Amino acid sequence: MSKAVVSQLYNSEFFKMACRQFDVAADAISLPEDMRDRTKYPRRALCVALPIRRDDGSVVVFEGYRVQHNLSTGPAKGGIRFHQDVTIGEVAALAMLMSWKCALAGLPYGGAKGGVIVNPGLLSLGELERLSRRYMQELLPVIGPQVDVPAPDVGTNEQIMGWMLDTYSTHVGHHEPAVVTGKPLALGGSQGRREATGVGVAYLIKRYLEDLGIPITSATVAIQGFGNVGSETAVALAGYGAKIIAISDYTGGIFNANGINIAKALEYVRSQKVLHDFGGGEPISNDDLLALPCTVLVPGALERVITAANVGRLRCRVLAEAANGPTTDEADRLIEARGDIEVIPDILCNSGGVIVSYFEWLQNLQHYYWTRDEVLAKLTVVLDRAKEAVEQQKLKFKFSRRLAALTLGIGRVVEAKQRRGLFP
Ligand code: GLU
Repeated sequence: MSKAVVSQLYNSEFFKMACRQFDVAADAISLPEDMRDRTKYPRRALCVALPIRRDDGSVVVFEGYRVQHNLSTGPAKGGIRFHQDVTIGEVAALAMLMSWKCALAGLPYGGAKGGVIVNPGLLSLGELERLSRRYMQELLPVIGPQVDVPAPDVGTNEQIMGWMLDTYSTHVGHHEPAVVTGKPLALGGSQGRREATGVGVAYLIKRYLEDLGIPITSATVAIQGFGNVGSETAVALAGYGAKIIAISDYTGGIFNANGINIAKALEYVRSQKVLHDFGGGEPISNDDLLALPCTVLVPGALERVITAANVGRLRCRVLAEAANGPTTDEADRLIEARGDIEVIPDILCNSGGVIVSYFEWLQNLQHYYWTRDEVLAKLTVVLDRAKEAVEQQKLKFKFSRRLAALTLGIGRVVEAKQRRGLFP
């Protein structure tokens, strides 16, 4: 059988890793050869130059991407990342993960991701607005409520979604809230969306601890990353009575065996932007945080932080992947061989965000809005269903939990592609 002829466009460690994960899953379900490359490679990608005027009058050009991995199961869906290390290969890997994540949760979406190479912390608010608007302006040909629906990711937030919505709406000539999710409530955002990813992560941790017979009130938790996902996970877990013994961001971390006061940490970050110099415990490096003895370790920042080099130091019972792709496939195999850590894989663990994005989009399309309780109740129904499906798949085929989740997600995308046939 002939193989795909592909360029080196997406050449990055993360993309190669996502491809290897796909290959392992494809082998595990004996995926027909003629479906493999078709399902694996991104459908299309857009690379854009984004000139903006700085506050000092100079002009600077940023580079941005949008990769739509799969459009066969519905409009593409996925966040936009503003980060200095963004590459098109990283965006493609994240887009691929969105395809499997949406399919696993049973959402009528394809998968996509966007990114701009920029450190948003170095821009003024006005510069950030101009960059966000310019990015949406350049994406207009491939974006829309029925085509591709962006959302926040690392380095982007509600306000940025608001500017993007305005740019799109101005173009089409009417208010179009369904074009992005994770937007402000005043523009048609959903109750519960801001905290949805963290709430979902915490809920799944609680459910898995129940399965293991560990009371959540006796659980200790270390969380890497104190952005939207990490901080909301901390809030929700603390609300369940778990003890958060460590948190961190890119400036370093804090350890406190008696438990960190999360409300105080949030207050500090709101005023100082970073955790650096927050009292409330002893300083700890991000590397040492991963090695803390704890019930639950939550990597909630960037990809590929748990590697073959540090996986041997892990001393958690549960690894809850709140970030996308935090564990390399090499490390994953070593964790499996160790057999003492339960992994809640990313495409299940952090799916609460895109699930509530789906609810937000539905509310926008219906012009009918739900209460926070309704949103969160529906979220747990979808998470429970996805978790149950993963556990059954794991048991039935004796797969790891990650392989179970991936094969379910990939299998659903494949079925849709098979049913649609190959055009022309
Ligand atoms: N960026 C989030 C993720 O990685 C959310 C995507 C969305 O809501 O579309 O899942």
